[in-house]
Amino acid sequence: MPPETLIDKLSAAHSLTLDEYAALIDSRTPELARELAHRAVEVRQSIYGTDVYVRGLIEISNICKNDCLYCGIRRSNRSCHRYRLTPEQILDCAKEGYALGFRTFVLQGGEDGYYTDPLLCVLIEKIKSACPGCAVTLSLGERSRESYQRLFDAGADRYLLRHETADPVHYAALHPPEMSFENRMRCLRDLREIGYQVGCGFMVGSPGQTSAQLAQDLKFIETFHPDMCGIGPFVPHHETPFRDKPGGTVELTCFLLSVIRLIHPPVLLPATTALGTIHPTGREQGILAGANVVMPNLSPVAVRGDYELYDNKICTGEESAQCRGCLEGRMESIGYRVVTHRGDVKRI
Ligand code: SF4
Repeated sequence: MPPETLIDKLSAAHSLTLDEYAALIDSRTPELARELAHRAVEVRQSIYGTDVYVRGLIEISNICKNDCLYCGIRRSNRSCHRYRLTPEQILDCAKEGYALGFRTFVLQGGEDGYYTDPLLCVLIEKIKSACPGCAVTLSLGERSRESYQRLFDAGADRYLLRHETADPVHYAALHPPEMSFENRMRCLRDLREIGYQVGCGFMVGSPGQTSAQLAQDLKFIETFHPDMCGIGPFVPHHETPFRDKPGGTVELTCFLLSVIRLIHPPVLLPATTALGTIHPTGREQGILAGANVVMPNLSPVAVRGDYELYDNKICTGEESAQCRGCLEGRMESIGYRVVTHRGDVKRI
């Protein structure tokens, strides 16, 4: 089937076969990408208009028990300057963000055993009471179903857990043997069943990744129907085994953002910091390809440089207000409007 026909089919049916997804990726051209982005933006505007949702990102700890091969804060990186924020510091970041208008906070960190269920439950309750009407999103990795349930019962609304790749063989190539694809999928299923708004996501251009594997990611999104989907280019970190591997591209990431918008029109799609890291206008290009979320940083400036998942990460020097102002200006420059309400997914 010619690629133009594949785009028609995708727009109408929100679905392609695995072979068709791979063929669409392999046959992409600048013209095809433009057509895909045009349709993706049309679909997104029919649901969200020109609104871009903001989430205030608080990077609570760069301590992690895991050793993912692509990650700059993996436990084997001995040169990483480690930090963890206290509950009081996290609450202060949320309060500062609330005063700036943020109504969604994303608590993100490595898998750090310091953050027990009781500690997090009290923290979530305090954030909810100090910041009325806000949504709390957690991005703290793999935990037990019981833990996810306790955090949900304490008031957490959303959970982000990138699946990284929907191909078990590729998953094994990106992770140490003690981590398993099955457990990652178990976590995502548990989160969904408990009632969270769930975000998955994957890296674009991870070492060894093929179009067939990306097709599996797209099929997973088609069947799992996540509320959010974070995709960003792989960016190598100098203290990982993948230090010499080529990074992912803005071009392929944006192409896939458009495809995902057409697969699942209401999905919340961030234009990621990684996209902004590999190109000065990466986030704007992401929005123009179909994304509709940006995540300014609310972490204390003193620790931002230490949350280095990949090399040359941007936005490590600005205060929270500057970060928000910068993104607002960037969105306005391309005709979009940052809105600061909770930004729940619209179910259509
Ligand atoms: S990707 Fe996440 S789980 Fe893996 S080492 Fe990095 S912070 Fe830890």
